[in-house]
Amino acid sequence: MIHVMQDHFDVIIVGAGPAGLQCARTLKGSSLSVLIVERKNIVGPKPCGGGLTFQDESFGIPDSITRPAFTHVIRIGKHDTVVTLKHRLRSVTRLGLGQFLLKEIAGAPNITVLTDTKVTEIRKDGVVTSKGTFFFKTLVGADGTDSLVRRYLKLPKKITLGFTFDVPVKTDKVVWYFNPPRLKTAYLWSFPKQENVTNVGGYYDPDEIPFEKVLEEFKAFMAAEGFAFTMSQLKGAPLGILYKGVEFGNIYLAGEAAGMTEALTGEGIAFALTSGREVAKHILDPAYAMPDLKRILALKKRREGMLARARRHPRMQPTIFRWGARMMKSPKFQAFFGT
Ligand SMILES: Cc1cc2nc3c(=O)[nH]c(=O)nc-3n(C[C@H](O)[C@H](O)[C@H](O)COP(=O)(O)OP(=O)(O)OC[C@H]3O[C@@H](n4cnc5c(N)ncnc54)[C@H](O)[C@@H]3O)c2cc1C
Repeated sequence: MIHVMQDHFDVIIVGAGPAGLQCARTLKGSSLSVLIVERKNIVGPKPCGGGLTFQDESFGIPDSITRPAFTHVIRIGKHDTVVTLKHRLRSVTRLGLGQFLLKEIAGAPNITVLTDTKVTEIRKDGVVTSKGTFFFKTLVGADGTDSLVRRYLKLPKKITLGFTFDVPVKTDKVVWYFNPPRLKTAYLWSFPKQENVTNVGGYYDPDEIPFEKVLEEFKAFMAAEGFAFTMSQLKGAPLGILYKGVEFGNIYLAGEAAGMTEALTGEGIAFALTSGREVAKHILDPAYAMPDLKRILALKKRREGMLARARRHPRMQPTIFRWGARMMKSPKFQAFFGT
């Protein structure tokens, strides 16, 4: 017997990143038929620090695939402020996170996962893919920064950039490195990822500072931390920060595709997971007011307000950053900052 795949679905989700997978996970067990389409053949891997904050704690990501860190060194130039966070920062490999979320939906009778399948065109009621055309009642664009669905909706976008690198060295503390005279509001990091792996990287806005300048400072940072650096191992990706909404008739956006990422730190996983979950709940119940989306958007706005203030006063940036580092010692400020 030839198995002919169903081609009409209640919901089609484009992209199996955290946003798309969490959306599918929330729709699991519902009466809706769901197709999730992913262009990569393995779900998960992506250049990313994999840092999970307090904002990610409600998604049941198991401790067994993460590594926690409480001690943070905020380094402004050569000055260190040591901060102990009330809530842990955990890190996860993106393969680990992707595979965990995939396992959560595996075997669900209402969910079909199609990997190695690229969506090449969006139509009014269907998506054209490398494996044929599939029709939807509701479409969710969770297809990342370069979202085809967002383009279909003709929404503008704004990107920032991140690059990352894994060093085979065991560390226990997190280092956040700022140097406003050289880096402006960009920053570099180093944090323990797996048992014997430390993740290092940088995050910046290309409209504010060119990559070459960030790279120069990154090389100096690596040398100061005693890490070997090879340019060929550096992996980068854009982040979508311009939020214009998640609901556009029967089309939804989630995660990077919706510009959910928060522009000050580049934190995006929690924003992707939260928007994926909220969009799914809204699909299930159009009266659902998406309170968690509102909450996390308020956090995005709060952090981006701090960024805007720092950008308005470039000469004050060293003072502003030092003040921020000191404030981070306070659990109240940590809560305000959402860590
Ligand atoms: C260097 C770097 C470091 C970062 N570090 C952190 C961090 O430490 N903590 C944090 O919270 N965030 C971090 N981020 C941000 C985080 O990676 C993203 O915000 C997060 O991955 C967004 O999830 P998403 O599901 O929206 O998009 P993605 O994870 O990008 O997933 C989108 C998926 O859609 C698929 N796709 C795209 N187009 C198509 C198509 N046409 N057809 C089929 N499939 C398609 C892609 O293959 C991908 O799997 C970092 C980002 C970078 C670049």
